[in-house]
Amino acid sequence: MDDRRRSLLKTVATAGVGAVAGCALPTTASGDAKTPFKVAHTMIPIVGSSDMFPVRRIYCIGRNYAAHAREMGSDPTREPPFFFQKPTDAIQLVMPGKTVDHPYPPLTKNYHYEIELVAALSKGGRNIPMDKALDLVFGYAVGLDMTRRDLQRAMGDQKKPWEIGKSFDRSAPIGPIHPVSNVGHFKQGAISLKVNGTVKQNSNLKQMIWSVAEQISKLSEAFELQPGDIIYSGTPENVGPVVRGDLMQGHIDGLPDINVRVV
Ligand code: MN
Repeated sequence: MDDRRRSLLKTVATAGVGAVAGCALPTTASGDAKTPFKVAHTMIPIVGSSDMFPVRRIYCIGRNYAAHAREMGSDPTREPPFFFQKPTDAIQLVMPGKTVDHPYPPLTKNYHYEIELVAALSKGGRNIPMDKALDLVFGYAVGLDMTRRDLQRAMGDQKKPWEIGKSFDRSAPIGPIHPVSNVGHFKQGAISLKVNGTVKQNSNLKQMIWSVAEQISKLSEAFELQPGDIIYSGTPENVGPVVRGDLMQGHIDGLPDINVRVV
């Protein structure tokens, strides 16, 4: 580990202790703690900076575009938003201009793409009002909520947790984070995904049922949000399968594309 990364980890750990001041049991150990082995922290590059964005939690909203909710078999007009999480180390970094190899995961025979706008938070809180919610956002990225659809459906049918369908290794490919100071907020704009050059998903961010601000406000009623949390804001309609060899190209107007090859 180089010195810069070491000092970054220390900074992150110290911030973690500060964030839980007052708790009887700190959940984050000091960066100076002696450990029998090392565990990597998940970090995402920040465009235009040598700093990295340390990821604390990955939240995802379900069925946030009406046409996608319908294709999943639900009625979007009657459903409040719902959320799930992926493990932090599910992140697979995809730098613009490069094609990243993405291993086809085990157990599935129906592996789906979901192109999504990702909001990255640098502030937290509880019960954030809508009109203050975007103040928490540090930046945005293009992400894929990769899904073992067959396992997700099978578990849903059995009224069991979705986790095996959604929260597995490398299930969260993502591009670097673009600060709001450079790219602003995303309330509309094209969002699309091609497979092998053919457009599969094609919609507009304004079709989201719950805006990023509404998602943050709703999430903060259920969880105390913290700096480092990121939110996958849902996928439009026409999700579908990929197989080994397929090239996925994710696009959101105003951000560079991400290229991911299933291997
Ligand atoms: Mn999704």
